[in-house]
Amino acid sequence: SQPDRYVVIGNPIAHSKSPDIHARFAAQTGEHLQYERLLVPLDGFADALGNLMKSGCRGANVTVPFKLEAFELSSQRSERAEAAGAVNTLRFDGTDIHGDNTDGVGLVNDILCNTPVRIKGARVLLLGAGGAARGVILPLLAQEPAALCIANRTVAKAEELAERFQQWNAGKSRLEACGFEQVAPDFDIIINATSASLSAELPPVPAAVFREGVFAYDMMYGKEPTVFMRHAASHGATARDGLGMLIEQAAEAFFVWRGVRPDTGPVHNALRAAL
Ligand code: NDP
Repeated sequence: SQPDRYVVIGNPIAHSKSPDIHARFAAQTGEHLQYERLLVPLDGFADALGNLMKSGCRGANVTVPFKLEAFELSSQRSERAEAAGAVNTLRFDGTDIHGDNTDGVGLVNDILCNTPVRIKGARVLLLGAGGAARGVILPLLAQEPAALCIANRTVAKAEELAERFQQWNAGKSRLEACGFEQVAPDFDIIINATSASLSAELPPVPAAVFREGVFAYDMMYGKEPTVFMRHAASHGATARDGLGMLIEQAAEAFFVWRGVRPDTGPVHNALRAAL
């Protein structure tokens, strides 16, 4: 029989590691599927979805810049997609388009399953208020941290997010917002969801927030530790990059589509070695 078909849609897309990750998951679990990159013109996302569905494609991952459009075109959405306001995983089911967001769970699972760090009861600082930050807030709150502080260059955006997510907070965590310079030095987990690392910059938080016992997570990853990781480690913090988040969000998408959870450890090792 023909393998079930999945794609990752973006523009650009050539750099995407998703086909490699899903091919490894499929080989490991014996799932009969094929997974390809699909480059779509900036104004062609809706047409591309229509064509994929007509051709019998079963699902898609969605990356920059189409996550908001994927949200809007979804006929049904998971709660975590609704909260994130963005969709990175689509499941096609007849004429229905199920939209989900696995980015946040990817981050949380990477921390919980692959490090000794506990989020429950921890004081968490989230740097950034863009798409990546939005996607992780609900899964972080679900772990019941003592505090979740969102800090951003444009403070109003952080305040908007803190306000918006109160409805999902159930009063359990101290959920607040501030500017980078006002960050207090009393956090256990610091997550960099800014794109500053892309230009080798640091979000200008006081250096004292990084110290021994702090776990610093950069969503960015690469062959070498990022500038954020090096800065955090130079002040005594333990630092981790975002490769695990990428692999765990893919594993969650694989589970959404196939109902099977791949073992991410060997895939992480293989991708790390190939960076
Ligand atoms: P957005 O463009 O939506 O948001 C960018 C954020 O970074 C904003 O909060 C912006 O602040 C802030 N920012 C940009 N430049 C600087 C700077 N020089 N100094 C301080 N803050 C800055 O991007 P995304 O949220 O989509 O992506 C953020 C990062 O997360 C990227 O590096 C991306 O690669 C990574 N990512 C990793 C994933 C993974 O699986 N590992 C998944 C998704 C994203 P302002 O609001 O003031 O403009």
